[in-house]
Formats: sequence, structure tokens, C-alpha cells
Amino acid sequence: MKSHAKVVVIGGGVVGCSVLFHLARHGWTDVVLLERDELTSGSTWHAAGGMHTINGDPNVAKLQKYTISLYKEIEELSGQATGVHLTGGVLLAATEARLDWLRGVVAKGRYLGIELEEISANEAAELMPLLDPKQFVGAVRNKEDGHLDPSGVTHAYAKAARKLGAEVERFTKVEDIVRRPDGMWRVITNKGEVVAEHVVNAGGLWAREVGRMVGLELPVLAMEHMYLITEDMPEVAAWNAKTGTEIIHAVDFDGELYLRQERGGMLMGTYEKANKVWSEFQTPWNFGHELLEPDIDRIAPSLEVGFRHFPAFERTGIKQIINGPFTFAPDGNPLVGPVRGLPGFWVACGVMAGFSQGGGVGLALSNWMIEGDPGADIWAMDVARYGDWATMAYTNAKVRENYSRRFSIRFPNEELPAGRLLKTTPIYDLLSAKGAQWGVSYGLEVPLWYAPAGVKDEFSWRRSSDFSHVANEVATVRESVGMAEISNFAKYKMTGEGAAAWLDRIFACKLPKPGRMTLAPMLKDDGKLIGDFTLANIGDGEWFIAGSGIAEQYHMRWFEAHLPADSSVRLEALGQKLTGLAIAGPKARDVLAKVSRADVSNAGFPFMAVAKMDIGTAPCLVGRVSYTGDLGYEIWVAPEYQRAAFRALMAAGEEFGLGLFGSRALNALRLEKNYGSWAREYRPVYGPLEAGLDRFVAYGKDADFIGKTGALAERKQGGKLRLRTFILDADDADVIGDEPIWYDGAVRGWVTSGGYAHHSKKSVAIGYVPKEIADKSDGFEIEVLGKRHAARVQAAPLFDANFERMRA
Ligand SMILES: Cc1cc2nc3c(=O)[nH]c(=O)nc-3n(C[C@H](O)[C@H](O)[C@H](O)COP(=O)(O)OP(=O)(O)OC[C@H]3O[C@@H](n4cnc5c(N)ncnc54)[C@H](O)[C@@H]3O)c2cc1C
Repeated sequence: MKSHAKVVVIGGGVVGCSVLFHLARHGWTDVVLLERDELTSGSTWHAAGGMHTINGDPNVAKLQKYTISLYKEIEELSGQATGVHLTGGVLLAATEARLDWLRGVVAKGRYLGIELEEISANEAAELMPLLDPKQFVGAVRNKEDGHLDPSGVTHAYAKAARKLGAEVERFTKVEDIVRRPDGMWRVITNKGEVVAEHVVNAGGLWAREVGRMVGLELPVLAMEHMYLITEDMPEVAAWNAKTGTEIIHAVDFDGELYLRQERGGMLMGTYEKANKVWSEFQTPWNFGHELLEPDIDRIAPSLEVGFRHFPAFERTGIKQIINGPFTFAPDGNPLVGPVRGLPGFWVACGVMAGFSQGGGVGLALSNWMIEGDPGADIWAMDVARYGDWATMAYTNAKVRENYSRRFSIRFPNEELPAGRLLKTTPIYDLLSAKGAQWGVSYGLEVPLWYAPAGVKDEFSWRRSSDFSHVANEVATVRESVGMAEISNFAKYKMTGEGAAAWLDRIFACKLPKPGRMTLAPMLKDDGKLIGDFTLANIGDGEWFIAGSGIAEQYHMRWFEAHLPADSSVRLEALGQKLTGLAIAGPKARDVLAKVSRADVSNAGFPFMAVAKMDIGTAPCLVGRVSYTGDLGYEIWVAPEYQRAAFRALMAAGEEFGLGLFGSRALNALRLEKNYGSWAREYRPVYGPLEAGLDRFVAYGKDADFIGKTGALAERKQGGKLRLRTFILDADDADVIGDEPIWYDGAVRGWVTSGGYAHHSKKSVAIGYVPKEIADKSDGFEIEVLGKRHAARVQAAPLFDANFERMRA
């Protein structure tokens, strides 16, 4: 075994081998994979080997498509058969709600280049002869489904990597990982030590334990999973003889089953509701090529549905039941990327569909390690989407929920119950008493809307029970004054003699003068966006930044990676050490004036001003800015004072008709101002010009800010896309996000977010289209639930286009 390597990959499952292959293919050949046993000694060897392109997140779907396209290449390169059978498949709907969901999947497929086709239940039965069409209302055909040989694929990756110069050391167990003072990693094994610049944790079933070697508690947990293999079926033999083809794959969402042909019989797997965690706290090191005890009672309810939906199963014996463990992150997507605070330590774990996702994970990670960027939008897989709040018990609750809901529909207005009430702010009970309906963001409870007694969300793809109540909240803001809790923003404090110079380099905007704020785009080295913030200069060398709450860990990783080595800049993510309230609407200033002794007149406290002031008895930081696009203020307050500030504002607001509003009303308000937000409109694959944030980029400022060259190049060449707001002739359903935008009979763009703008009474969608058609005002269509609606570009904001309300 070599003593030094550029990269050590820990784990010889399908994911580790894919990472190794991609690093070598990308030119890093001084790389070694360490496997404690034979390759495939974790989850990989007993997988059912199914692969498919669809995923709830379109960007993960793209990487799945890439993974499937890769198998031919690694087979040719390695000479090792992968056993790929591209049979195609049907996705089945037993209810109308499921069919609506599938139509959304078909629509997404249009701009992802995934060929999906809606078909009737009878047409599905012609393709997949074992199903009873009377049990289904429709289906979708996917030509890119199939299955493979898990061991063959893993060895093909490893052999191809070796051919390119990488090394694989089997029976080499990593026992400890120690960071040297010079930043290199000592990877200590049962056979000696390798010193490496980078370490990749692809430990699969043991990813938690490998993480613990460097003090990390990764949010991953293994679940038991069962599939059965039947005796040979005459129906299968008859079909094979008649068509000369295998029986195609089927996913029966309502039965929570997946099926495919296995030799002369069938394989049927299920994600059962009564699921079981495996090795809750510690994965045993002596677990290897073993299976777990099958428990047919646990999967009996699913099998009962299976027998009804696929009657031939009832007549056939079960040959074998496989029960094996594999890992999940709380949301079921992989955990990939560099770990904040541990330079050179990377993860590629929590991959629950290694044969659909392993290639994409390897590609993204190798790009990231070698080029400094994953080269694709992998937010949905980024390990930084979780923070320390994702504790072991939280992970346990969410993983179990996610497993049991693997094939369930999640409606756009549906909030899930597991792992809730983890983080609450001090006014949680006060807002609950006012009817707050709660959602969750980065572990924190956030008010979505306020319901009268007895009213709650009815889950739907269409406008629902909250519609008129959200409309009332919006009216309160636009007509008098509303108050919202905004503690879910990320908040950062920055001080130190080097802070201003550092901010000037890290942000693309001009720095605000003391007492002022500005919108602050942050760019990557390639000039694309990596964040959008409000930057406030509090004065006396103190800076305050507010940004996307869900990206706190993501942005801290970036900030810290770019901090100067000396201690001239002090940076702190404030999390819930600072809570927030916002007031907005034409009467907002009157309310503020009543509770504060500061001069809050338009002259004394103009738009984008920031100052410390007391609200009632509570010391606060107040900025005159509002995501509602109205006259408004954001109020930042330490949690111990939040109740006092809240009560003071409520009391002062009474005479002005102050009412509470939630994040759904805020969405309706920002839509009519064409305001975007991080992770929806602004993501790391768009440039500031494309995203419409170029007006905040100080291209000519003296500071050599990160991404300047790329941003200037984008401005010169014009980029490829443009973010546009559209008004569509919707009926009873608005866009959610990820719908295709049609122009001239072809899919040309995609929706990033939208909804109903209650004040303007318009259905709004925001999305990207190619710049060549971005200035056409008409001729667009947006597809909602399988139906195309005429859409027009709305260039000027629907509300307060001249900024009179906001600045007055
Ligand atoms: C019953 C069942 C059916 C499944 N069906 C499918 C399917 O149809 N399609 C699909 O895509 N996925 C399926 N999966 C999931 C799939 O198996 C996983 O997504 C995949 O195997 C994950 O691979 P991995 O490389 O991340 O982890 P693992 O396969 O667990 O590999 C991790 C490797 O790391 C090694 N390792 C760990 N710690 C150390 C250490 N300290 N030192 C050295 N080596 C170490 C282990 O020995 C192991 O070989 C199924 C899983 C099960 C259980």
C-alpha cells in the first residue's frame, strides 16, 4: 500500500468505486480506495439492481440520467459486464391525485430530456401483462428504466479506475483519521498509514462511524429493506416467448411496490409503513456479506395490495426474501460535498439509490475536488443543507418518515410531522394562539398562514382551504399593516479591522456607508451566483448580513473557506441567537413611530437605512427594507426580547388594523414585485445577468471581488438565460416550481417558483428562458398539471412599479 496519495477514498461500494473512477477519469490518478473487506461489502451486494431516471428534484434526475448513460462506457473501459437490461417501465397511478403528480413528472421530463409518456391503464397492461388495469386510473411510460448486476457495476467502476491509474486496496480497514497541523490527513488502517491531501467518506453503511473518526455526526441512518423473488411464473414464460422481451419494470406508487423480472419469475420490493431501523446508534464492524432475518408480517399489507394489483403473484410461490440494510439522509437524498470546517474532508454517503445516483455523485464530487465546483446544480444533495440541528434522534424520525412515505404523494401545501418542534422561537405560543399554521425551515418552525378555528390545510395540487385567508393577510399588508415573523433568515455578524476589505472582496456589490444597507450578490470564481444577501453597515466597524435561512451552513462553508488566515475578520452565524419580526404596509411607519423614540420619518430613516433602536422596551436592530415590496421594516431582536418587541408592536398596531401574515402571504406579495430568492430563482448555475441581479454588481469597483472576471465575461457575452416573471391564464391551480415553459410549440424554459398574487389577482410564475426569446411578451405557455396555459411576460412589477410605496 502506498504511504502517500492525493486522495484516499474510504469504501468500496458502488459509490466509492464511482468516485474513484471519476477522479481518475478527470486526471487525478494518485488516488487510492481502501475497502475493509471485498468490494461491495456493504449495501451494494444485495441490492435489487433497479435503476430509473425520475426523482423529485430535477437536478438529481439529471444526474440519474447521467448515471444510467455511463454504464456502457465503464463496461467498455473495464471489460467487465454490468448486466444492464434497459427494459423500460411503467409508473402506475391508482388514484387521480397520483395521476396529477405523474403529469407533473412528465412535464419536468420535457425540459430534462427524459422521455416520459402518459398512457392509459389498459395501455400499461399491454406493456406489463401482470397488472390488472381495473386497479389503475392511468400510467406513465419511461423508456429509461431497467436493472443491472450490482456487483458487476461496482467491479466495472473499480477496474476502469485501475486502468486509468487508480489503486484499490481490499481488506484494508480505516481505523482512524487524524488531521496533521499542515492540513494533510493521516488515514490510519490495520495495514499502516496513508497520508493524503483529501479524504472521501464513501463508507455507506459505516459512513456515520467514519464521520465520527473526525468528530462529525452525519445525519444518516440505515433501514431494513425487503424484496422477494418468486418461483418461475407461467405468465412470465408466456410473455417472454410471445414477445422475445423481458417483462418491463413497474412502480406501483399506491401499492408502494416496485417490480421487475428476475430469471423466470418476478422480483417485488416494498417500502413498508411498519419499517425498521437497523443499527440505530452504531453499525457493527463485523457485518459483511450477511442478510437480515426476513419478516413477512411486516410487508404483508403491501403484498396484499400487490396480489390485488398483480393477480399472478397470488398463484405463485415465494422462492426467497432478501432483507438488507441501506442508508438514508433525513430527506432521502445523498449527502455529498466538502464538510464545513474540515478542509480536504469530503462525503459521498447516504446514497439510497446507488445504481441510479452513484455515477452522478461520483461526477459531481470529482468535479468539486478537482475544479473547485460540482459543475452542476446539486443543492438537493449538498451535505451543507443540514446543520448541527439534524441530531441523531431527528435523523431517526425523519428517515423513518421518509422511508414510509417513499412512494407517497407530498402535496405542495403538505407539511410533514416527524422531527417537528425541534426549534421554536419565543413567540411560538403567541402565534399559535392566533391560529398560526406551521411549516418548517432548516429545523425551525415558521408560520405559513393564520387559520380561523376549525380551518386547516386541505392537501391539494390546486388552490385550497387557505386561499381566502391568505388573500386576507395580503390585503391587510397592502391596505394597512401586517406583521410577520422572519426568524428563519440566516443572520451573520462581522467585525474586525479586516472586515470591510474582506466584504469588498467576497461580495460583488459596493459596500454601504455606515447606517445603510444594500443588496449583496455573492459570486463563485466562475462568476455565477453563490448567494444573495442584505448587507448592512451598522457603523463602528460592525456589519450585519441577512440571507437565506436554509443556506446558513452552505454559506458559512464558503465564508470560512475564504476568511484571511489571521484573525482580522471575526464572523459569526447568529442562528436563533437573533430572531426577527417584520412589519409592512402603508401604516408600518405609524406603528414604528409609536413604539420607538428614534426619528423614523422618511427623511430621518429613509429606504435602506439601518439603525439600532428600542421597540417598546426591547433593544433591536431595524432596517428599512421589506420583501413585501411595500413600506416596511425588518426588526432583529435577541430571543429574550422578542416577546416584548412583539407585544409592543401588536399593541401599537391595533389602531392601524395590524394583522399577522405568514410566509404564504409573503410569497404572494413578493411575486408581484418580481423578487426572487435563494435556492429558487438564484442558484449556483446562474450568472447575475441571467438572474437579473446584475444591477447590484459593482463591475467597476476597485476591489478585485471573487467572480469579477466571470461576471464581466457574462456581461460581455450576454449569458444564455434570462429570469422572467409571467402572468398565466390559470384556472384553479397555480405553478409550484419546475413546470416547463413552452414557446412556439416547444419547451424552452422552466419555472423556478410562483403562485397566486392575491392583491393583483393574477397567477404568477417566475422562471428561466433562453435570452433569445426573453424579450418576447407573448406566445408563451406554462404547463400546470398536464394542461398548457397562455402566459405573458410581466416586465414591470405588478405592484408599485415606480417604488413609490417602498421609498415614500
Ligand atoms: C435490499 C436492498 C435492495 C436495494 N435495491 C436497490 C435498487 O434496486 N437500486 C438501487 O439503486 N439501490 C438499491 N439499494 C440501495 C443500494 O444498495 C445503495 O444505494 C448502495 O449500495 C450504496 O452504496 P455505497 O457505496 O454508498 O455503500 P455500501 O455499499 O454500504 O459500501 C460502503 C463500503 O465501505 C466499506 N467501508 C466502510 N467503512 C470502512 C472503513 N472504515 N474502512 C474501509 N472500508 C470501509 C464497506 O465495507 C463497504 O464495502 C438496495 C439496498 C438494499 C438493502
